[in-house]
Amino acid sequence: MSYSIAPLSELVQALAMLPGIGGKTAQRLAYHILTMPAGKADQLANAITGTRARVRFCAQCGNLTDRDICAICEDPSRDSSIICVVRDARDIMAMERSGLFRGLYHVLGGTLSPMDGIGPDQLRIKELLGRLNGVKEIVLATNPDVEGEATAIYLWRLLEPMQIKVTRIAHGVPVGGDLEYTDDITLQKAMEGRRPMHQA
Ligand code: ZN
Repeated sequence: MSYSIAPLSELVQALAMLPGIGGKTAQRLAYHILTMPAGKADQLANAITGTRARVRFCAQCGNLTDRDICAICEDPSRDSSIICVVRDARDIMAMERSGLFRGLYHVLGGTLSPMDGIGPDQLRIKELLGRLNGVKEIVLATNPDVEGEATAIYLWRLLEPMQIKVTRIAHGVPVGGDLEYTDDITLQKAMEGRRPMHQA
């Protein structure tokens, strides 16, 4: 016979769905939420539902924003002739932390992964091609893992005939590494050391 409390189990299960949260941590967090002042728990719940309701993807670059167009796309001091292509919006946060890049971004929304059924049509590649007017350089900053490299090569082949300089960030980012977790200095060096792409 089970003595589990249904609403508490539901909360534990919901928390355990989050990345990096195992069963024990979920239980600990659920207990913490139950014993925190009611106002604080409401604040947490409202932050989750409020964020989901208000935050969306920038219509131009795919970054997270609470408006139609994100603050980076709208900033006239950014260099619109250079676009840095990244896998997802978290990579923009990492790049912005490093503070070196002053161009615009384009979020692909993933990387090519035939095994998972993710082909070019599942990524925001059409949207990228629609932004090339006046663009002099595309920096491919997908992760240096198998999917990230395959995606960079695919985009390079697509963009190269269009007379646009295509560069790839340097491998200061560890091979198989994740842009999001790369420290700022390494990320700066990777951006500074970016190189034109060549046929492999
Ligand atoms: Zn944007």
